[in-house]
Amino acid sequence: MSSEVARIVAMPVEAAAAAGRAWRATPAADRAIVLEAVADALLKHADELWPVADEETHLGEARLRGEVARTASQFRLFADVLRDGGWVDAIIDHADPTATPPRPDVRRMLRPLGVVAVFSASNFPFAFSVAGGDTVSALAAGCPVVVKAHEGHPRTSDATAAVVRQALPDPALLGLVHGFESGAPLVQHPLVTAVGFTGSLAGGTAIQGLIAKRPDPIPFFGELGSVNPVVVLPSADPAAVATGFAGSLTLGVGQFCTNPGLVFVPEEGGYAEAIALAVAETTGGVMLTDKIHEGYLRGLVRLDGLERLAVGQAGPSQGAEAARVFTIGLAAFVDGLPGLAEECFGPAAIVVKYLDKEDLPDVLRRLPGSLTASIHASSPDDTAGTSGDIVEAVTGLAGRVIWNGWPTGVAVSWAMHHGGPWPATTNAQHTSVGATSIRRWLTPVAYQDWPDALLPPELQDANPLGIPRRIAG
Ligand code: NAP
Repeated sequence: MSSEVARIVAMPVEAAAAAGRAWRATPAADRAIVLEAVADALLKHADELWPVADEETHLGEARLRGEVARTASQFRLFADVLRDGGWVDAIIDHADPTATPPRPDVRRMLRPLGVVAVFSASNFPFAFSVAGGDTVSALAAGCPVVVKAHEGHPRTSDATAAVVRQALPDPALLGLVHGFESGAPLVQHPLVTAVGFTGSLAGGTAIQGLIAKRPDPIPFFGELGSVNPVVVLPSADPAAVATGFAGSLTLGVGQFCTNPGLVFVPEEGGYAEAIALAVAETTGGVMLTDKIHEGYLRGLVRLDGLERLAVGQAGPSQGAEAARVFTIGLAAFVDGLPGLAEECFGPAAIVVKYLDKEDLPDVLRRLPGSLTASIHASSPDDTAGTSGDIVEAVTGLAGRVIWNGWPTGVAVSWAMHHGGPWPATTNAQHTSVGATSIRRWLTPVAYQDWPDALLPPELQDANPLGIPRRIAG
């Protein structure tokens, strides 16, 4: 590691740690006001931000304006989370001298960790980038952030950081570093207390390895690869399945972590034929970066031995990629595991044809973890005849299970869970989207027999903040 790069990375980390002391001491209600000010600033500067992102990502005005709005709404959600107060998970057990053994007064709540390092994603230049979900949830928790910009959109990253900083009480609360070389010194800096990452399996594994070499390995929350299996049961409407699948597969040129990469359809009933027609009518586009494009082409080579079901139209742009869908029977698919269940990031998918739905649960249990898994059927009764096994197998596979819907599109809400077993994420207990994503940056502290005046207000007897608390069980 170059000492010059380490020195450059250390500056924003140290500045963030210093600014973080006042930020964590700022009452949650005041932090909420700051988060709303950031939301306002992002919307106010949307006209300047989206064109920069469009030059770097080719994602287009409508998508990018929508993403700025989503990013602002994430800041507003976390303002609501802070005002609600339930996020600190306050629990109070009063002393009980009559218990055996006698019990002291114990009061527990969640507290901010410290500086959070964030590796922003390539495919959402706003919503999963400098001002994305990792950053806002960490700031809400009371943690300052240093972002490693994604090199697919460096100017968008600078412009977004400038807008966010205008609204922060101290601009050092949001640091930004660039360049591949800055990743290692960032995650190994002693003042960094946790890392959020969205990217490839290889990149995430490398960062995890760097963290493991620290004298004090810190929590790592990586969102990596996902094939998002879809099970189409015999009662589903083939035309609706085909249209929905083609739209979901090609959204954003397939560059979504929630892209449906594996679809299990009945051999009979015209499902594969309907999918072939719908995909042939889709239009592709230019991929986000050369590196992602090359990765997609490598992924296609892996699928080359399979029968081609459909190819979409590339569209007019130079270097545009078309959707590609392959097909295989269930038994041959099983023979090709685990390779055939690896993510191919882009508009590619495998349609797996089955004869008997009874065979599905065993195959589903052999798939790697995913962010989502979906079932399509016209009636819940169609899951019967497998002793409920399809439902159970699907539920064990992914962090979000979808009924008669498509996985692309992740609502930002209180209940959302965007996570899943390895390799979808490195920690299946947590989410990177939604209100509970704040928990990644918090750690519990139990105060035993602490004087009321020294307790955080969240745990004081009078409950001055009026937050929800669990008292005496
Ligand atoms: P990537 O290659 O893993 O890069 C992600 C970030 O990590 C980038 O900032 C990259 O730096 C950095 N990085 C990667 N390896 C590193 C290492 N060994 N040391 C230090 N820093 C390292 O991911 P990507 O460029 O976004 O490539 C797209 C892939 O990410 C897709 O194939 C897809 O599988 C995955 N992806 C997943 C999700 C999800 O939500 N799960 C979302 C988007 C993408 P540089 O930019 O400087 O190279």
